[in-house]
Amino acid sequence: MQLETSSPLSPSGQTTITRPGLLFVLSAPSGTGKDTVINALKQRGADFYVVASVTTRPPRPGESEGNPYHFVSQVRFQEMIEKDELIEHAQVHGNWYGQPRKPIADNLQQGRDVLLKIDVQGAATVREKVPGAIYIFLVPGSVEELVERLNHRQTETEEQLNRRIADAQYELAQQEHYEYIIVNRQGQLEEAVNKLQAIMHAEHCRSKPRYVQIQN
Ligand code: 5GP
Repeated sequence: MQLETSSPLSPSGQTTITRPGLLFVLSAPSGTGKDTVINALKQRGADFYVVASVTTRPPRPGESEGNPYHFVSQVRFQEMIEKDELIEHAQVHGNWYGQPRKPIADNLQQGRDVLLKIDVQGAATVREKVPGAIYIFLVPGSVEELVERLNHRQTETEEQLNRRIADAQYELAQQEHYEYIIVNRQGQLEEAVNKLQAIMHAEHCRSKPRYVQIQN
């Protein structure tokens, strides 16, 4: 969401100041439908940048470089950590994931909101390192719904599936650390999308919006 404000001192109203974007952090247990919610909001025309994480996980069928991740080797991932190219990184369900610093910093500076889709560990790191981000947690309507969605995807082996279900229990227990909770109930996608949109709008209406500073 890009906002421009007219300077009250400019009689012509011509002077515009581009504000930095806001940084939103969205976490959700695997299978909660966060990509579906984000894509539906984008289809409404909402303008925000969703960061493509870097991961050591191999691509699934239908995934390719940059969609939805940058797929890299363990060696390259390690190099990125050493060169401080990631603002956070974490091992999730046995694979490494991280958020590349430069596109986040560039988009924020250009006045564009940025949304990080990261797990609860990544959110904890961002909370520590980048004060001012806005934290949203998406929960499934029930654990049964989540298990059903994961089963339906058919992208994981049984062992991977069990691990994701076990991890979900831990992740759900972390929701108290988030400022906003959105329930994504089966068959009620629009309601979840409305709430995410309302939160993003409301954060822009703060008398003192929470801007973050990230070096690129
Ligand atoms: P998946 O492999 O199913 O796409 O993602 C598994 C989990 O990794 C999800 O919970 C997702 O939020 C998390 N994840 C994806 N990218 C990142 C990242 O850059 N950092 C962290 N900490 N978690 C991530």
